[in-house]
Amino acid sequence: MAEAGSFADKVKQQADIVRVVGEYVRLKKTGKDFSGLCPFHQEKTPSFTVSPIKQIFYCFGCGKGGDVYNFVMDMEKCEFPEAVKVVAEKCGIAIPRQKERSPEERKENQQRSVLVEMHREAQTFFVKQLQGTAEGKLARAYLEDRGLDKATIERFGIGYAPSGGDALLRHLKPKCNDKLLVDSGLVSRDQSAGRLFDRFRRRITFPISNESGKIVAFGARALGDDMPKYLNSPETPIYSKSNVLYHMDRAKEALRRQDFAILVEGYMDAIAVARAGISNVVASCGTSLAEPQIKLLGRFTRRVIVNYDPDAAGQTATERSLSLLLEQDFEVRVLALPPVGNKKADPDLFIRERGKDEYLKLLKEAPPYVDYLIARARQMDLTTGEGKLRAVNFLLPYVQRIPNRILRSEWATRIAQQLRLDEPVLRAALSKAAAERRSEVKTQPELVGRAAKPVERRLIRMLAEAEGFRQDLAQRLQNANLYHGLETEKIFAALVIAGLSGQPVQASEVGAMLEERDRRLLFEILFEEANEPTWEEAMSCIEALQHRQAERELADVQRSIEANPTAPEMRGLLEKKQELMRRLAAAR
Ligand SMILES: [Zn+2]
Repeated sequence: MAEAGSFADKVKQQADIVRVVGEYVRLKKTGKDFSGLCPFHQEKTPSFTVSPIKQIFYCFGCGKGGDVYNFVMDMEKCEFPEAVKVVAEKCGIAIPRQKERSPEERKENQQRSVLVEMHREAQTFFVKQLQGTAEGKLARAYLEDRGLDKATIERFGIGYAPSGGDALLRHLKPKCNDKLLVDSGLVSRDQSAGRLFDRFRRRITFPISNESGKIVAFGARALGDDMPKYLNSPETPIYSKSNVLYHMDRAKEALRRQDFAILVEGYMDAIAVARAGISNVVASCGTSLAEPQIKLLGRFTRRVIVNYDPDAAGQTATERSLSLLLEQDFEVRVLALPPVGNKKADPDLFIRERGKDEYLKLLKEAPPYVDYLIARARQMDLTTGEGKLRAVNFLLPYVQRIPNRILRSEWATRIAQQLRLDEPVLRAALSKAAAERRSEVKTQPELVGRAAKPVERRLIRMLAEAEGFRQDLAQRLQNANLYHGLETEKIFAALVIAGLSGQPVQASEVGAMLEERDRRLLFEILFEEANEPTWEEAMSCIEALQHRQAERELADVQRSIEANPTAPEMRGLLEKKQELMRRLAAAR
């Protein structure tokens, strides 16, 4: 939250939410507010609304709402400090320089920026090698053979590391000391002689960028039959392979728009898919996915189609990635491409031979992971009891990882049918397996209908907006304990606290204090068509609440009387009943 007086608070006061949101969404003025198509869910008619007066947004379709920072955090999938920076930049507000905490930290930051700079240098160098040398020409021929034209080579920054063994080293040496060269991972040190040499030699190079688009490593494919076929940068202060997904920096927008990711194995596959115009693709660039990579992806979408190579290594990688993805609650489908001719097809080969449309068609039809796994299990020998046991044991770990109980049960039925197993036996095995995992069934926040009564809605609106009498109103509501027990109690409580302070009420900050369901309701109320509030109207709303309160009390008293007609408190109860009835009659 933007604390008063903080930089975030200053930025928020200067920023105009309509302008910031307008950079992402086409907004149209409708009355006092602006509306447009919601960027957070698919829709054809606008239910996304921005209020320049309250400086908040709310979507009546999906319930997202908040202030300018909430919007940017959701759009950019970033944390609060980053959102402040983004908004400040968009509004041309200078960002105060961050003080580094310690000399070591400053040194590390410095080293990191030098390493990034070295990678930028190396990238320029590799690109020049590919374009302007005789050796590079051979590499270009190879790339052309793989169907990569000039435009693609440029778009993905593909380069070439020459065979000499020290070409890059000589290029970088004047600017960097030996330690930096080795730290960068671009240069290796000969263990015995201590001599330095280029890590990548006679290889096609692919720059690997981090999420924000800075080159932090290279992947390199051997041009000839050199081993290994693929060689990547080692772990360095700026690169950890489990934290980076290839093509993530360019896929973000598409991931958000399409709300699913295609996960492929290598950069050639990612390039093949991306250049076919399918941008929501990322590559794990390693044998299988790591948890930080999944978390990174999860910031943009929780739906994945895994499209790994069809060979044995690819299958193993698929299965390992599946268990991790399931554990993180992803919705996963698996695309296993059919062979092209007699060749097993990776995405690169498949798109080259069969074209983009055919690939898109198969993507659309990609089966849920459960079907993929069952198909795999069916390939095992199921004629013997032992074989069946092996198949079940292959499937069990996946079932165990499904957080949702109902889904797990559906699985059991399907597995039993498909593998012709005895369902009760299988279920017993499954429930045992399930018992061993932490059970955690996540409930969806329920969508809020028009829950609150008109009187409550009106009072809430007044508490948020009636500058003139908000404080008095809050006081009255609190003194008479009028909102106690209402469905909207928590919203009232938050607004009353804010109102009593005498400070202007920030709807987004009140919202931040509420649970999802209440927050949605608050925003919905704030965006309703409404007249200017008056004190007379406020008083009549209060009367209505008092009336309802009396009715509730009367019902309580009546219940107590009926429950125990001989109680010593009976006299008191009856008196109370009389009084409540008088009050209700007078109000009529
Ligand atoms: Zn929406």
